[in-house]
Amino acid sequence: MKKIQMVDLKGQYQEIKEQVNNGIASVLDSSAYINGPEVHAFQSELEQYLGVKHVIPCANGTDALQIAMMGLGLKPGDEVITADFTFAATVEVIAVLQLTPVLVDVDPDNFNIDIEAIKRAITPKTKAIVPVHLFGQCANMDAILEIAEKNNLFVIEDNAQAIGANHTFKDGGKKKSGVMGHVGSTSFFPSKNLGCYGDGGAIFTNDDDLAHTIRGIVNHGMYRRYYHDVVGVNSRLDSIQAVVLRAKLPLLDTYCEKRRAAARKYSKAFEGQEHIVVPKMVDVDSEINYNYECHVFHQYTLKIVNGKRDALAEHLNSKDIPHGVYYPVPLHLQKAYKDERYKESDFPVTNQLVKEVISLPMHTELDDEQINYITETIIGFVNEK
Ligand SMILES: *Cc1c(COP(=O)(O)O)cnc(C)c1O
Repeated sequence: MKKIQMVDLKGQYQEIKEQVNNGIASVLDSSAYINGPEVHAFQSELEQYLGVKHVIPCANGTDALQIAMMGLGLKPGDEVITADFTFAATVEVIAVLQLTPVLVDVDPDNFNIDIEAIKRAITPKTKAIVPVHLFGQCANMDAILEIAEKNNLFVIEDNAQAIGANHTFKDGGKKKSGVMGHVGSTSFFPSKNLGCYGDGGAIFTNDDDLAHTIRGIVNHGMYRRYYHDVVGVNSRLDSIQAVVLRAKLPLLDTYCEKRRAAARKYSKAFEGQEHIVVPKMVDVDSEINYNYECHVFHQYTLKIVNGKRDALAEHLNSKDIPHGVYYPVPLHLQKAYKDERYKESDFPVTNQLVKEVISLPMHTELDDEQINYITETIIGFVNEK
């Protein structure tokens, strides 16, 4: 059996090696290292793929979130509601901009921001909601867009984990994740579903004025060379990363399909296991007919509900099965983001999830032999007396 990897970037590279190597060589020859023709070409290819008017590339996914908030003109003291169970980047940029983060609980089935908790958190100071499409599937965007409209709030989608996911609205309409709110962001960190070979990110919007503002912000607030109209940052995508992203973008749907195929096999193997809860999909046609299209499985995350999660993690280490606990500490309990406004009783779900979740190897190169070994090892251990 091939050694199991948590993500297999090397295997994926083999398929696109020639295109990437040749593309990088020509960037080196061209000396257009930042914001060159490769970046512009990638930008318009991604606009087309997502069905959005504007993609603004930038240096990473954290910057993308920060720049989106700067572009919307959010001011110190404005309250921004986001999920307690996510990667810290989301709350970090809110704090960096001296906005007030308002962390709320999540849904126990799909790990995404809880709709009733959003409603309870809204005050006259609330200016925006940041749904994080966690682990590869969209938050309940029907409800979030409705709440936002009613309360005059911006919706900023953190799409770092779900690029390529499709969201089906209640009326049957479909959109790609990241382009449903006022503005969306993503990360091209190597291990993300559309990853480059360094850091990278992008901002998406259909709003022409906002796109114009943001194009200046990423480049020191300049709309004309050496005239600085707004306070900006330096956040750009380099051409070498654009070459990698251009090679991968046409394969993104195939990558998603391969991840879904692995997820289906995992879920099938765990069927009927009383101590193991497999990931649930938001878009469900019927009890048994899950709509896998809505999920791109950035992570395949189980809940181990008999208290053996930590012991299982140890056991997987001894069996050379990589795994991850995303995330071990809720944001409201992190030293940097603690706040006396929060009560433990506000976070029953995240407080429980951090004890139960475990993510399994998930990438485009997993084979049946590896999946069988992983699932048999887990089932055997979880059911041991
Ligand atoms: C990865 C990630 C980010 C940050 O992206 P970087 O490119 O690493 O800065 C933000 N939000 C979420 C949910 C992420 O998973």
